[in-house]
Amino acid sequence: MSVLDLAREEIRALAPYSSARMEASGGTVLLNANESSRPADIPGGEGLNRYPDPQPRALVEALAELYGRDASQLLVTRGSDEAIDLLVRAFCRAGRDAIVISPPTFGMYAICARIQDAAVIESPLDASGALDVDRLLASVTERTRLVFVCSPNNPTGNLVEHETLRRIARELAGRAVLVIDEAYAEFSGAPGAATLLDEFDNVAVLRTLSKAWALAGARVGTVMAREDVIGLLRRIIPPYPLPTPCVEAALSALSYEGRRVQRHHVSETLSERARMTQALATLPGVRAVLPSHANFIAVRFDDPAGTYRRLLAAGIVVRDITRYPGLSDALRITVGTGNENDRVLAILRAGEGA
Ligand code: PMP
Repeated sequence: MSVLDLAREEIRALAPYSSARMEASGGTVLLNANESSRPADIPGGEGLNRYPDPQPRALVEALAELYGRDASQLLVTRGSDEAIDLLVRAFCRAGRDAIVISPPTFGMYAICARIQDAAVIESPLDASGALDVDRLLASVTERTRLVFVCSPNNPTGNLVEHETLRRIARELAGRAVLVIDEAYAEFSGAPGAATLLDEFDNVAVLRTLSKAWALAGARVGTVMAREDVIGLLRRIIPPYPLPTPCVEAALSALSYEGRRVQRHHVSETLSERARMTQALATLPGVRAVLPSHANFIAVRFDDPAGTYRRLLAAGIVVRDITRYPGLSDALRITVGTGNENDRVLAILRAGEGA
């Protein structure tokens, strides 16, 4: 059985939209896409009168090199949010199929599934906050199409071992696609999971430039999968997902100099994460600091609502994650600059006696 047998039949049969820009290249008088031949007369407008390449070669190749895969196994998307949506739409039949998630985890898996009218089966993390693999596998039924594993997990920050991912992929072979969301992988020090594509056809790996590459505003994500799965996603991705300025920003970030800066920022974030983890743990009112492999830290407080309000009154916005199962006393704090982190610690210390 091929992984494509798990996909929606109508998507497999779909003749995708063929955009004018894709159909003919090589000419110099471009009158085939109903664009304006007159350049946009605005600052930075150069080239913006033309539609962008749907998958700019230079960017696809730079990302393929970065993540160690062949360009044919990779699709660049409007943030990894779009990749999640594409996978759900390609694999889940409305009103029939299901995804499996392990809450507390990133909210968009369930949202995309609900929009598609697919069922959301929950297999919670265990009491220690780790993935409960046996329970996860037991939650998979013949209706399951996608199993989402987020590593490092948002909002808990825990990492799923490579061998565990391998076991899940093996056990799901022929039954469901394992989607490994590695939005925060650069902060974990662990090698990426994309090498699993050498062994399994039922794996998709998500990466993004939004976190470690400081480009959340450019909306550049990547999904890696076997070529036939990528071919399926190409059929349903909207025509021109990557705006020209975003492509240019991504290419600059991925240049030699851009990579040097990125490594420096990641290592700074890691030392700030270590400093914050230690400092937060010593503060009264803090019940626990969850060890994190990402660029945020989930912290349990005696009074999460009061702590949230105190930080907000000082102009500091953190994420209230008390609605997540098992985290009813927790706030998620992104690791900021040294100065921002000092301000967080100062407010929390000042609140000790409050
Ligand atoms: N996956 C996870 C786990 C996330 O936390 C986020 C952003 N919060 C995303 C995916 C989406 O990232 P983007 O669309 O910016 O690539």
